[in-house]
Amino acid sequence: MSMDEMLSNCDDHGPLGAVLRQLDDAAALIDLEDAVHQKLRRPKRVVTVSIPTRMDDGSFKVFTGYRAQHNMDCGPCKGGLRYHPDLTLEEVIALSMRMTWKCAVVDIPYGGARGGVVCNPKEMSLGELERMTRRYTTELVEVIGPEKDIQAPDVYTDARVMAWIMDTYSMQMGYSVPAVVTGKPISLGGSRGREAATGRGVVVTIREAMRRRNMPLEGASFVVQGYGTVGSWAARLLDASGPTMMAASDSQGGCYNPDGISAEELLAHKRETGTVVGFPGSERITNQELLELECDVLIPAALEDAIRADNADRINAKIVAEGANGPTTPEAQDILDERGIFVIPDILANAGGVVVSYFEWVQGLQAYFWTEDEVNEQLDGIMVRAFDRVHAVHEQRGIDMRLAAMVVAVDRVAQAVRVRGIYP
Ligand code: NAD
Repeated sequence: MSMDEMLSNCDDHGPLGAVLRQLDDAAALIDLEDAVHQKLRRPKRVVTVSIPTRMDDGSFKVFTGYRAQHNMDCGPCKGGLRYHPDLTLEEVIALSMRMTWKCAVVDIPYGGARGGVVCNPKEMSLGELERMTRRYTTELVEVIGPEKDIQAPDVYTDARVMAWIMDTYSMQMGYSVPAVVTGKPISLGGSRGREAATGRGVVVTIREAMRRRNMPLEGASFVVQGYGTVGSWAARLLDASGPTMMAASDSQGGCYNPDGISAEELLAHKRETGTVVGFPGSERITNQELLELECDVLIPAALEDAIRADNADRINAKIVAEGANGPTTPEAQDILDERGIFVIPDILANAGGVVVSYFEWVQGLQAYFWTEDEVNEQLDGIMVRAFDRVHAVHEQRGIDMRLAAMVVAVDRVAQAVRVRGIYP
């Protein structure tokens, strides 16, 4: 399918249709000129590569890999690399656009990109994954690099995959290039504070939202869906600053105690048993029941589409802070709005991860590494300023925070496109 066909035929509810609709809504509000709007509706570059890989049994398999680079007007592009059997090019392009808006809303000098390989990593050995990753990197060597496109871990890729990419790229260049990827092991130039960064950013936005709404932290209650990296870090940092966690869940179910659950002890229980279910003193609840609990703050930090048209009228939180990407469907957003529930949208709430990835890139370029306190302080400042910008637009224009975040982001990129001009 050609790019034009993909853009004009995409389903309004599909990944690309949804992200284009958000762009169109923001563009209409800021009277975006057509040339800039049309430019931003399309990725700058999409590369499809074939990745011949020697398997352990001596056979060869040719995998398909993609890299979509949506925009480079504010700086190089940045985005995760995903290994998944159901990956589609449309999804990769949509994710690259979302990444542009996420970087722009926190005002870091990046555009968005995303990549992936259609493969099932669960059925591959470490050696097969390494050979596939190194060949994928080599096929992309012309279009990636610290000044062009910086990859990071995403679904089924991790620090080890980033180390292979860094090594392969460095071998091709003839010298070490740590800034070609982020999410590296600390020993290769990874940043301190990266693991906690997304959860930490979620907590900064919750703190700011509560302050604006005159809700004291002390005595407030919160609930977390998805006690993974983002959810458990957000819970521990929030727990330490006053509010009480009433419930948390993972893919196996949830635990609930209206008198409070220690976030730290719950993590120890999950590490020991593999699940949050059965935490001492708590009652078992389903994920659906958890979403409907009365609380001050609900943090969906698991999967997409957790809050939908069929359950949005039963959400009983005052604030929803989107730790996950896309946990609220557009229909559900309208219902939450009507009910006066304040939603901190994903591109703002969970941007802490890409902010600290940016710090990792900066540290790599300077070959000068920061302490964890320095990382956390800088992260806090960037998140507060981003929240303030989005909140101001939300109030001035009387629009929800999601649309306000898109207005801030699109306006930021549009300014860069405008002053650069459209070449030639
Ligand atoms: P993770 O794998 O560490 O944690 C996900 C958690 O969700 C796990 O505890 C899992 O058991 C749970 N889960 C899975 N299915 C569930 C279900 N149906 N109901 C309830 N819980 C379920 O992943 P993560 O890195 O914490 O990422 C979580 C979300 O945050 C994803 O949407 C991801 O895209 C988004 N995100 C992550 C980062 C980051 O830095 N890790 C940054 C931005 C956005």
